[in-house]
Amino acid sequence: MANEVLDRKEKLTPTEDPLVEAGQVSETPQKRIFIGLLAVTCIILGGLAYLLWWVPNVGLRNIHPYLPALLAGILGLVVFAVVAGSLLLILTILAGRDLFLSKKLRGAVVKVLFPLLVVMGKVFGLSREKISHSFVAINNQLVLAQDLHVSPARLLLLMPHCLQNHDCKVKITGNVENCEGCGKCPIKELLEVSRKYDVELAVATGGTIARRIVVQKRPRLIVAVACERDLTSGIQDTYPLPVYGIFNCRPYGPCFNTGLPLAEVEGAIRHFLDTSES
Ligand code: SF4
Repeated sequence: MANEVLDRKEKLTPTEDPLVEAGQVSETPQKRIFIGLLAVTCIILGGLAYLLWWVPNVGLRNIHPYLPALLAGILGLVVFAVVAGSLLLILTILAGRDLFLSKKLRGAVVKVLFPLLVVMGKVFGLSREKISHSFVAINNQLVLAQDLHVSPARLLLLMPHCLQNHDCKVKITGNVENCEGCGKCPIKELLEVSRKYDVELAVATGGTIARRIVVQKRPRLIVAVACERDLTSGIQDTYPLPVYGIFNCRPYGPCFNTGLPLAEVEGAIRHFLDTSES
């Protein structure tokens, strides 16, 4: 586990790449993308700054007599859409059921609002973890509002590898059924729950494997357990597929012998299962 954490840190930290140093791969393409994006951003910002200076200087009416009315109309529509969308989102969350377009609202929350709120949160000194926690809660509410019910075959239980006891030598990624049921970690109970409801249980070691599992199993709904960071990225990556997120427990810190609220997982399965669907 310590190695896993170190590996992750190493990936996140810009270190010297030994392959680049050895001349086996070129670092130019990665740098070129970054520099290219930076240059384009600078050009766009420069253009916008020029427009912000030029338009008030010249005056909208002098550019075209209809421009002030057109701009007022566009800005009015944008403000109306934002206010109406926000009100609808708040009402849907409060009502806990689909009032209107809850699926589309979840899309707006996942794709637009969350990244925006992370930036706003930084301005107000809120940690990303806190915002992620709130994001998952809102996402869950919107998933519940869609009133989805699926057959056991289309419901996937997606679990993080850190649930497995660190000393366990059994390989459960790929096939959870390899678990020998010793009871030293929650995998035993999760397997019992998955058999009880006849739903698929999968364990992923990271985001890439999780995405592969989702592509292979083709579920219609996922009940996922993970930390704030992984749940947030998982919900964003798999959108529009509905993901109901449950936070893991971390009595020994992140990524090590973690636990989960099993009753909550079982409650979610019961809620979403529709035994009448074939
Ligand atoms: S319950 Fe299964 S996965 Fe967990 S430690 Fe025992 S054998 Fe390993």
